[in-house]
Amino acid sequence: MRDDFIGYQCSLCGKEYEPADVLYTCPDDGGNLDVILDYAAIRRKTTVNQIIGSHEESLWRYLPLLPVSDPGGADTPLHAAGWTKVYQPPLLSQSLHLRHFWLKDEGRNPTASFKDRASAILVARAREIGAEVIVTASTGNAGAALAGMAAAVGHKAVIFAPKTAPPAKIAQLLVFGAEVILVNGTYDQAFDLAVEASDKFGWYCRNTGYNPFTAEGKKTASFEIWEQIVKPHPELRQPINVFVSVGDGNIISGLHKGFKDLMALGWIDAMPKLFGVQSTGSAAVANAYFNHSETIVPVQATTLADSISVDLPRDGVRAIRAATQTEGAYLTVTDDEIVSAIAQIGKAGIFAEPAGAAAYAGLIKAIANGMVSIDDPVVVINTGSGLKDVRAASMAVAAAPVIEPDFNSLKNYMANKERS
Ligand SMILES: *Cc1c(COP(=O)(O)O)cnc(C)c1O
Ligand SMILES: [Zn+2]
Repeated sequence: MRDDFIGYQCSLCGKEYEPADVLYTCPDDGGNLDVILDYAAIRRKTTVNQIIGSHEESLWRYLPLLPVSDPGGADTPLHAAGWTKVYQPPLLSQSLHLRHFWLKDEGRNPTASFKDRASAILVARAREIGAEVIVTASTGNAGAALAGMAAAVGHKAVIFAPKTAPPAKIAQLLVFGAEVILVNGTYDQAFDLAVEASDKFGWYCRNTGYNPFTAEGKKTASFEIWEQIVKPHPELRQPINVFVSVGDGNIISGLHKGFKDLMALGWIDAMPKLFGVQSTGSAAVANAYFNHSETIVPVQATTLADSISVDLPRDGVRAIRAATQTEGAYLTVTDDEIVSAIAQIGKAGIFAEPAGAAAYAGLIKAIANGMVSIDDPVVVINTGSGLKDVRAASMAVAAAPVIEPDFNSLKNYMANKERS
């Protein structure tokens, strides 16, 4: 075990626990636990230049700031999670009228979503505590990520997903060789089943918003935003504005934790503003935010963005605070706006799944509302690849024409197109 991982603190009651005392949530009130690190010890051992000079092109370049040890698997996909590209697509900057716009493409992770960050850390944690089987509930991506990261180092994974998950995601789970059990019900029901299976069978549970280590993996995206954008651009107006979609609320909580780590280490000057984007059809966190409340009232989620379709967000309180404590905000977008955003991002050569495009749709709304202006630096996180859900992608564009395979047909087609 790492000696700079010194315990947990409950996000609801504030009670602290020793590393060996608990595995998941607060035993008193079920609150999500924050991992506590010994920042003074980290600062003694690690410098900014050491990190920036690292040759590790994955999230493991931040090992000194993580609560786990290197799990090995150096030449496997486990060491390909994170360190994703940030783009500055001129077409999008122009259409948004922003001078400093970046898109961070999490579709480039080994299993094509942001979830690889959490699952990589979970596999490391499982190895440390000697857990042989890792189980998770998933709308698809968390499962694919766990299945892929576990497969990379030969670890066992069990995945519960709704049987309605997009076929590409289910195929991924199966190809990675996980034990896949489809549930004739919702993600929320799969979640409860995974917790029960973990209790009864002694499996280690990765569930999002339940296991405290997922946020520790997700926070690495903040370290990258710092290293890829904030550090190399001291001329930028601070703070930077980060837009991300929200389902359970664990990505935005993880991003917040990452920036809090950097503030505690004194490595960043201003706390970035976090903007959470939900679908109007799955807006339990945004609803609470709009009501100035920390009480999450479950909804009956209906959105085509399956990755953020959640009745009861499991990390809702920390997700609200990620916005309120950074002077960010929540925004909601319709499925039509999400589909339109897929097409807009696509024209810049970036393929997003609906939940990824939702963040971009949220930015468009924030600009229209005057929440972001032309000189504000903005990062949108595309959380997953469009290949995850080609049915939704097809809704964003017109179908292609079909012609006879001869030049005359082509000529007629082009002439007709000209006229119409
Ligand atoms: C899981 C997921 C999200 C939302 O993350 P939460 O932690 O549930 O808020 C967003 N986009 C994609 C592609 C995801 O897989
Ligand atoms: Zn508590």
